[in-house]
Amino acid sequence: MDKPNTGPFTLSPLPYDEGALAPVISANTMSFHYGKHHKAYVDNLNRLAQNTRFGAMPLDEVVRESAKNPADRAIFNNAAQAWNHAFFWACLSPRGGQPSGDLKQALERDFGSVESFREQFAKEGAAQFGSGWVWLVGDGGKLKIEKTANAETPMAHGRRCLLTIDVWEHAYYLDYQNRRPDFLKAVSEKLLNWDFAVQNYQRAG
Ligand code: MN
Repeated sequence: MDKPNTGPFTLSPLPYDEGALAPVISANTMSFHYGKHHKAYVDNLNRLAQNTRFGAMPLDEVVRESAKNPADRAIFNNAAQAWNHAFFWACLSPRGGQPSGDLKQALERDFGSVESFREQFAKEGAAQFGSGWVWLVGDGGKLKIEKTANAETPMAHGRRCLLTIDVWEHAYYLDYQNRRPDFLKAVSEKLLNWDFAVQNYQRAG
């Protein structure tokens, strides 16, 4: 396997065109969210990590290492947001789809049904107070829904991330204004990339 990329960190290309997720997420939202917000996290991280030990680490290691020390909070915030956004783009697909195989069975075991999972996922995302994320994670053999605030991410704390939705206002305000629940419902029902979730579920560790 190739050595993971270390800094300077790059803004990875979107896996689809900016307009591909419309009408659920408009090209206008994607243009700002990816081209301005996500890019700013990567640029800030490069500025902060330059000439530090973090500059020689792959991005996921920067997130895990900087999470350990409150003095590294600015690095953590930007590294985690860079990681979270790249992960989020991969969690979305214009084709949407359905979970399959072992993941489908685990969703039925832990949430009752796939439909019930979608509803609970959207509900938890709406309940996150202020900026943050809602996640589907694997934790000790069980699937769980987790909410995090601001840049916080389950991957920094040993949970395996399967899916996420960004619930910062910048993720939905241009298209949905204050209607975060409508954004979450539409994304949960139409855009979740279940092939990506299955890959994350099957990955060892
Ligand atoms: Mn965002």
